[in-house]
Amino acid sequence: MDPGLRRDDDVVGFARIPNPESRIPASMITFDKVSKRYGPNHEALTEVSFEIGAGEMVFVTGHSGAGKSTLLKLIGLVERPTRGQIAVNHRQLARVKRRGIPDVRRGIGMVFQDHRLLTDRTVFDNIALPLIIAGTTREDIGKRVRAALDKVGLLAKEKESPQTLSAGEQQRVGIARAIVAKPPVIIADEPTGNLDPQLSAEIMHLFAEFGAVGTTVLIASHDLNIVKRLNKRVLVLDHGKLIDDFRPSA
Ligand code: ADP
Repeated sequence: MDPGLRRDDDVVGFARIPNPESRIPASMITFDKVSKRYGPNHEALTEVSFEIGAGEMVFVTGHSGAGKSTLLKLIGLVERPTRGQIAVNHRQLARVKRRGIPDVRRGIGMVFQDHRLLTDRTVFDNIALPLIIAGTTREDIGKRVRAALDKVGLLAKEKESPQTLSAGEQQRVGIARAIVAKPPVIIADEPTGNLDPQLSAEIMHLFAEFGAVGTTVLIASHDLNIVKRLNKRVLVLDHGKLIDDFRPSA
């Protein structure tokens, strides 16, 4: 290990290096002292601050109930913060009114643990959905859906129903749907929660490829084995507080 690096095994056992702001390219996601309270007494997030740059791939981890999903919901405007400011893709979310929410969401690809595919439509039609909503022409839809299917390795499955696919393939379709409109930001909530370790690793490597081409990727996962193996920046939540923010060593 580089003698300049500080060992810190207390949270996830990485060798750590400092994470100075100068290394972060133009910020794509900024949290400034963000708190979220559900009901009068339950604070799910407390004064959380961080910045994620364009093209970064970052994990948010922590125990069940730590606030990971809440953090992602705030980015996707599913929930609003009680205090603090959030900016996504250079927009202050506090200024986004209800009718502006679809426009913000078009810039964010969302992936869920249960992938939320429509079982009465083909794989192609599921992936096409965000493009249809955005008013993309039919010709472009065909090109883009096939490009997305190609990226996730499922070109041969476009006519199938999602129900006929394996769990790993279904999650790949969910990812293709999230990237088909080429959003600058992808957020994923426990995307490997239902998959075995081998499939989980494949899915995470897929996300890493999107990060490598400039997309900002934020993934909530409590699976420390996978998080460690990917060797990316990690935000650690504990009872709603951001208790660590580090990159593992090279
Ligand atoms: P995680 O994703 O890390 O498991 P969550 O963000 O789902 O954590 O939850 C954080 C805390 O907020 C938990 O205590 C949870 O019970 C609570 N919580 C989450 N959503 C709601 C809600 N809609 N209403 C009330 N409490 C909630």
